[in-house]
Amino acid sequence: MIARTLVENAVVKTLCRMCSNRCSIDVHVRDGCMVEITPGQGNPCNNGRMCPRGGAALDMFYHPDRIRTPLKRQADGSFAEISRETAIAEIAEKMMEIKHRYGARSMGVWKGEAVGFLQQEEYARRFAHAFGTPNYFSNDSACYNGRFLGHMLVNGFWNPFSYYAKADLILLFGTNPPVCHPPFMAEFADAKANGANLVVIDPRLNPIACYADIFAQPLPGTDGALAWGLIRHIVKAGEYDHELMDHTSIGFEEVVAYAEKFTPDYVEEQTGIYADVVVKIAQLIIENRPRISFYMGAGLEHHDNGVDNIRALVILSCITGAFDMDCGLFWPEDMPRNGLTLYDEQPLEEEKPIGADRFPVLYELRKECHSMTAMDYMLGNGDYPLKGLIVTAANPAVTNPNTRKVEAALGSLDLLVVNDLFLTKTARLAHYILPAASFLERSEIHIDPKYQRVYLTSKVAEIPGIMDEYTLWHDLARCLGFGERYFPWENETQVNQYILEPSGIRLEQLQAHPEGIQYKPLTFQKHLSRPLPTASGKIELASPYLKKLGFSAIPEYVPPYHLREKSEDYPFILTTGARKTLLYHSRNQNFEHFRKVHPRAKVEIHPDDAAALGISDGNAVRIVSSIGALEVEANIVHKSELLRGVIEMYHGWEDWPINLTTFDSVNDPISGFPLLKGVPVRLEKVELDIKKQAPNDKLQTNHNNKNSKSQTG
Ligand code: SF4
Repeated sequence: MIARTLVENAVVKTLCRMCSNRCSIDVHVRDGCMVEITPGQGNPCNNGRMCPRGGAALDMFYHPDRIRTPLKRQADGSFAEISRETAIAEIAEKMMEIKHRYGARSMGVWKGEAVGFLQQEEYARRFAHAFGTPNYFSNDSACYNGRFLGHMLVNGFWNPFSYYAKADLILLFGTNPPVCHPPFMAEFADAKANGANLVVIDPRLNPIACYADIFAQPLPGTDGALAWGLIRHIVKAGEYDHELMDHTSIGFEEVVAYAEKFTPDYVEEQTGIYADVVVKIAQLIIENRPRISFYMGAGLEHHDNGVDNIRALVILSCITGAFDMDCGLFWPEDMPRNGLTLYDEQPLEEEKPIGADRFPVLYELRKECHSMTAMDYMLGNGDYPLKGLIVTAANPAVTNPNTRKVEAALGSLDLLVVNDLFLTKTARLAHYILPAASFLERSEIHIDPKYQRVYLTSKVAEIPGIMDEYTLWHDLARCLGFGERYFPWENETQVNQYILEPSGIRLEQLQAHPEGIQYKPLTFQKHLSRPLPTASGKIELASPYLKKLGFSAIPEYVPPYHLREKSEDYPFILTTGARKTLLYHSRNQNFEHFRKVHPRAKVEIHPDDAAALGISDGNAVRIVSSIGALEVEANIVHKSELLRGVIEMYHGWEDWPINLTTFDSVNDPISGFPLLKGVPVRLEKVELDIKKQAPNDKLQTNHNNKNSKSQTG
């Protein structure tokens, strides 16, 4: 591969974006080649540490399978190389055809994480609105939006991060920090060294649970019942923040009245956590409040009651007084900056954003369309047809629920453009594939709200013919006739300057400070001097906004789908999505040395469940839900690692997509999130040597059950 570094011999300081943590890294360039990545110093986020995924950025950059030339699907289904100019011109022409025939809203844009975060997201949102469509989708519809809404609906801001080292008690719900947030581990270690207690709540034993003072395994999706039980105990003991509840919140009386039924015994009945353990956790909270950090992870949002479970936990944090403190629920201040979206200039809401009628909160608070409903629109089952889609660095054919429906929907489009680094499963369905730039090929502004710092990431290298994300939208917009108006900047450096202007910080200053610049000093307890960013200006324990929309004002606990819809045919609860250290969603599987560690998909099974079904470690098993099935290898874990009756499988395998079995049409009513961590399934032993089986994504759709029709649209 012909790649060019921008410097011949140097150490280039930038931020890693192999996951969302954005640690500082040093990229070592020797003789025009990037040879090593080591942790960068001076950034409080990672404090001179990094994880193995960060080091693998070079495997990604230099990977021989990188897409380097635009590809066009041929009549026989194969792909042929075409020039970039031709690809952009043909895509623009087809977009205009769709616009003239069906209207601009029949085009959509879908952004994933592999190309970056906020700035890339704003490019995509801007482009969609400039074209005239409100239909912006992203992977956030299946990871992040649920937690964002859970926090926003209570206190009007999103920042689940705290300075954990300052806490006397840390409670982690549904998260696996050593894998998801390695930079937090040093903070946890410092907190433990300072004598802090650690409580880990997770159906699955994750490594940090080994250091916990209390580790409790609730049934998936029942965290809300635990939150309400803790609220009840704390309120009954009178051990809550009276000042905060009396003067800075609304709905406290409703919360107190609703909590009444969540006795320790009832919580045990719902969650499976012993009543005396519930009381012990409540006592720990009382003893340590308000110096408590609560962290709610992705494990909570993948249920059809996810947002309300998260809201209940945010309320619990507020009630204890752990609110806008250094140790808990820090309310970050924004950096003044120019945004790139056009929501004020061109709201386009009269164009009926897809899913906004079903999930109005998702659209109103996140300005995001519902990616699962998008599949129905593609298949002709919406108010209008969705005929074209530009997907940038997302892989919905793997990561969205109900794989077969997603494949059918994407395959039905008149125009599918995929911009990516590799030939993913989604890319293989495209009409045009464009080569995307990795983070090492881009420069962008990054804002870290936890430390209120701003960074400029450095472009380290480039590969001829591969364009960065801004250039993609810029060139396409020029071809479509709105480039000069909406994408006037010639390159990403000019965009970076524009974004920074109101901050008073100059690009050169950021270049001189790769460890970032703090844009505002950290201050706490700001609610004492200004209203919160909610409609009432207060903590909304009961939400007038949700009530107006017909939801319960307080986050009432509804048992999760698998408890409400118990079925003898599907006696197991499938949870998906537990992270792996080396993989990141559907990424990194093609790195040779990572593949040695994770050569194939496995499903984790409790030893007693395995014994009852005659399954041994390494056997082939079939996971069957009401919509599909998948055969994989059994991994019998230690009995402490999983609850009986619960199985777990990683969600991002290209060759073994567990989303063949997950539902797209059982959704959280507020966020629209799919059911990814509470799917009723059965497990069958299969007589075959799974290790000799070629990777497959066999679907065995069960058409003889009541759910098939609704699941397949
Ligand atoms: S945690 Fe690892 S992959 Fe994520 S940003 Fe930090 S070094 Fe990169």
